Amino acid sequence: MTLALHGIGVSAGVADGPVHVLHRELPEVPYYPIAATAIEAEVRRYQGAVDFARTQLRSVGLPSSTPSDIAEFIETHLLMLDDVTLSERPLEIIRMEGCNAEWALKLQCDALCRVFDEMDDPYLRTRRDDVAHVVTRIQLALSSETPQPHEIETDVLVGHIVVADDLSPADVVLLQHRGIAGFVTEFGGPLSHSAILARNLGLPAVVGMHGVRHLLDEGERIILDGARGVLLANADERAYAFYRERAEARRRSQQELQRFVGTAAITRDGEPIELLANIELREDLDAVRASGRHGVGLYRTEFLYMNRAMPPTEEEHLTAYRAIIEALDGERLTVRTLDLGADKQIGSGRSVASNPALGLRGIRLCLNEPNLFLPQVRAILRASAEGPVEMMLPMISNLTEVQQVRNLIDLARQSLDRDRLPYDPDIRIGGMIEVPAAALCAGVFAEHLDFLSIGTNDLIQYTLAIDRVDDEVNYLYDALNPAVLKLILATIEAGENAGIPVSMCGEMAGDPRYTRLLLGMGLRRFSMHPSSLLQIKRVITECECATLRAKVPGIVREGRPEKLAMLINELRIDA
Ligand code: PEP
Ligand code: MG
Repeated sequence: MTLALHGIGVSAGVADGPVHVLHRELPEVPYYPIAATAIEAEVRRYQGAVDFARTQLRSVGLPSSTPSDIAEFIETHLLMLDDVTLSERPLEIIRMEGCNAEWALKLQCDALCRVFDEMDDPYLRTRRDDVAHVVTRIQLALSSETPQPHEIETDVLVGHIVVADDLSPADVVLLQHRGIAGFVTEFGGPLSHSAILARNLGLPAVVGMHGVRHLLDEGERIILDGARGVLLANADERAYAFYRERAEARRRSQQELQRFVGTAAITRDGEPIELLANIELREDLDAVRASGRHGVGLYRTEFLYMNRAMPPTEEEHLTAYRAIIEALDGERLTVRTLDLGADKQIGSGRSVASNPALGLRGIRLCLNEPNLFLPQVRAILRASAEGPVEMMLPMISNLTEVQQVRNLIDLARQSLDRDRLPYDPDIRIGGMIEVPAAALCAGVFAEHLDFLSIGTNDLIQYTLAIDRVDDEVNYLYDALNPAVLKLILATIEAGENAGIPVSMCGEMAGDPRYTRLLLGMGLRRFSMHPSSLLQIKRVITECECATLRAKVPGIVREGRPEKLAMLINELRIDA
């Protein structure tokens, strides 16, 4: 019988191949005394493990296409291995305590983590994850019972689907070099470094599949559906036929969509619609260009802060923005200011707050940490002198936040004037509507901002009280919930009344099931993952905007879920 397991699909594509299970739990750290005569041998054993971990990291051999921040992440870990805190201090502990290398490392790691935990600066506090990551590497090298990805013979993994507890970005790059067909992990969220890297590398991947390692046998053939987050073991011929057919249909539909490359997105009745892209890295622009000329409606700048020991400097921000402005060649760039916190921690993805989605994230963190925020604000302002740049604030929930940011922007402007550095004095400042309070008061925000952008990923999470990274409540995540639709409609109408543009940059904007509904609500600016651009454009060209506009607001106000679903379905036929 076919076994179907479900997780979170984070990188689309179907892989079919034998399983390779990576069992890599750390054994309990053992303690044993070392005789005085054996101390120096134990010291050498520790040094050998550090050397081994270093070779392992270096052997990752990053391809030239690797995003620079991933390369920096590996570089940071290499530097940490060489730092006295990990290369020298454990040796002193071995000599002073007369204990084994594993125990000495554990004592040192505990001490380092305590220092990080006590730090006031939330950014630096999260660096403890990097320490833990590097320590884990050394501990595994010391125990060396289970082969690590680098130890597995080169061609053993070719065509395999790797099943692991969790994978670091370095592991993902390494495994991809070894020719794996995809991977599944028990933990992790769709916004983890590894998930994003998998998408960049085009590697089908599913995360959050708890207990999967204990349900599969080494070498067993499975099908992995990275879009749906499904794993099929012992699949029958019907399932294989289904996936073969899907692959063929996907190929055909991709080919068919090519005719929309470079064409305008205009509805049947002549309404022009603006299609923009969401990007995380400069490298994502290649995929944008494959669909024609598009501006960027959401540049998630969190990646600039990840995988490094210190936050980026103003110049580093500016360099990153410049590269994108240049590649966009006159198209608009909307830079979202730092939205760290919740499911986007800087380190391994584990949060330090007890309720991180409701905690110090997004604009709250920035206002709490002006030293973290101001270099970015200055860099965005400076970038605005070099091309059409907008600044977008995430997670606003009250007007005071907007006013505080405006004060900080004024300070940044004054300092740029003093430094005689140019910027666009009319740069447009927008806000993301992703908290129900902001949607309900969108009219007030619209009076104080130049544009609004609806972040449905968070708006749905906060409206329906479901953590977007908790797979146990994922079934409640419903874009068509009447409460969500009313908030979206209220935001679009508030923008219309104030005469400012409203866009949508949450996943909903790139989902063709909702395009008619959103057009009918009055949305005219959609920002999405680059791979959705052509598909959404096709739907737009098939729509009669005026018909949708006449019907949809009434449907949304209707409010009864079963009727609503039926009416929305009918839109596909009518307009
Ligand atoms: C959103 O919340 O819809 C959004 C676009 O922001 P992010 O997914 O980065 O939180
Ligand atoms: Mg958001």
